[in-house]
Amino acid sequence: MKTCAIVGINWGDEGKGRIVDLFSSNFDYVVRYQGGGNAGHTVVNKYGKFALHLIPSGIFNKGVVNILGNGVALDPESLFEEIEGLRNKGVVVNENNLMISDRASILFPWHKQLDILEENRLKDKKYGSTKQGIAPFYSDKYQKKTILVGELLHSKHLKEHLKDILEWKNLTLTEVYHSEPISFESLYEWFNLYIAKLRPFIKDTGKILEDAIKDKKNILFEAQLGSLRDIDYGIYPYTTSSNTLASYIPLGAGIPSIKLDEIIGVVKAYSTCVGEGPFVAELNGEEGDKLREEGKEYGAKTGRPRRVGPLDLVATRYGIKCQNATTIALTKLDILSYMDKIPVCTKYELNGELIDEFPFPFELEDCHPVYEYLDGWKEDISKIRKWEDLPINAQKYVEYIENNISCPIKYVSVGQERNAYIER
Ligand code: GDP
Ligand code: MG
Repeated sequence: MKTCAIVGINWGDEGKGRIVDLFSSNFDYVVRYQGGGNAGHTVVNKYGKFALHLIPSGIFNKGVVNILGNGVALDPESLFEEIEGLRNKGVVVNENNLMISDRASILFPWHKQLDILEENRLKDKKYGSTKQGIAPFYSDKYQKKTILVGELLHSKHLKEHLKDILEWKNLTLTEVYHSEPISFESLYEWFNLYIAKLRPFIKDTGKILEDAIKDKKNILFEAQLGSLRDIDYGIYPYTTSSNTLASYIPLGAGIPSIKLDEIIGVVKAYSTCVGEGPFVAELNGEEGDKLREEGKEYGAKTGRPRRVGPLDLVATRYGIKCQNATTIALTKLDILSYMDKIPVCTKYELNGELIDEFPFPFELEDCHPVYEYLDGWKEDISKIRKWEDLPINAQKYVEYIENNISCPIKYVSVGQERNAYIER
C-alpha cells in the first residue's frame, strides 16, 4: 500500500495536473480533497489537451477510481459540463471510475451570483476571484447552510432543508445586495436537473477508501491550488477559502486516520501568480511579457494573463515547509532555455533588512526581491529524458535550487506531454 499527495508549492499552476496524470497509473485511487470547479489543471496525453476543473487528473488512466471527497465544493453544472467535454474526446467517465462523497456539499447557483456581486461591490479592492462561487460556498458550509450531496437521495427531507436555506439566503440577496429573491420553484427545478444524473456517482467514499486501505491499495491525493492560496497559511486575503495543504488531506478526502507516505511538491522553474495580491518577485515590462509568452502563461480556467517572475526561493521554502513535502517535481525547465542569465529571488528586503523567511502576509507589500543570476544553457532541452544529457548549466540550475530549498528534486519536467520528464 502506498499513499502519496501531489501538491502545489507556490501560487498555483505549477503543473499539478500534469504530474498527477503522469503518476496516476501507479495508483488505484486519485482523490480531490478540497476546492471546486475553480481549478485549471492542464493535462496533455493521447486523448488530447484538457483543462480539468473539478475532476481528478487520474480520469485518463484505466483502472483508476477518481473520488471527489467531502472537502470538495460540488458544482453540478461545472461537473457535467466537464464530464461531457471528456466523453466527447473519448475518455470514459462513469460511476465505476468517478465517485462523489455523500458528504461533499453542493455549490448552488447563488454562490456564483454572490461571488460576482461581492467582487463588483469591492471594485478596485477586489480579491481577484475566479467567480466560481468558492468563497460564498465555503462561508455557507461553515455556517451549516449547504446541502450535502447525500441529501439528494432523500427527497422529502431535501425539500424541507432547501426551503430553510433559501429563506435565509434570500435575506442576504435582497437586504445586503438589493438583488432579486430566488423562488423555491426555480431552485428546485435547478436541483431536478441534476438529482437523477448525480445519483449513480454518490457513494460513501470514506468507507470505500477505508476498505481500499485494508486491501492495501495505492491512493493518490491531488491538491487543487498551491500552498500560498491556503486559507490559513497563504497570502490572506488573496487566498482561496479552503485548506489546500497536504495536512488537510485526511479530513477533506474522508479518511481522517490516514498517514501520507510521500508528499510530492510541484514547483515551477519560475514563478506565476494569477489575479490580485502581493507577488514580490514580479517581472514587468518586456522581460515579463517575454517570459509569459514563452511559458504560455494564461489561466486554464479564466484565460487571464498570469503574472510572472523568477523563481522565488523565499516563497518556495515556505511552501515546502507548509506542505511538509518529501520530494519535489520541478516543471517547465524547458521554458527558461531562452535566457542568457536566469534570475532567482533568494531573499527579500524589508524595511532595509534582508530576510529569507516568508513574512506576515501584510508585510509582503513592502518587500523587494533580491536576485542572484545563474548562467543559462540556451539550447532546447524538451527532448531530453536523462539527467546526464541535460546541459551542465541546466543541471547547475536544478542543483542550485535543490541546495536552497533543502528538499530533493527527484523529477524534472521539460514539456507538457506525459513522458516529457527526467527522473533523477
Ligand atoms: P496546475 O493548475 O498546477 O495543474 O497547472 P496548470 O495546468 O494550470 O499550468 C501548468 C501549465 O504548464 C499547463 O499548461 C501544462 O501543460 C504546462 N506544463 C506543465 N509542465 C510543463 C513542462 O515541463 N514544460 C512545459 N513547456 N509546459 C509544462
Ligand atoms: Mg492551474
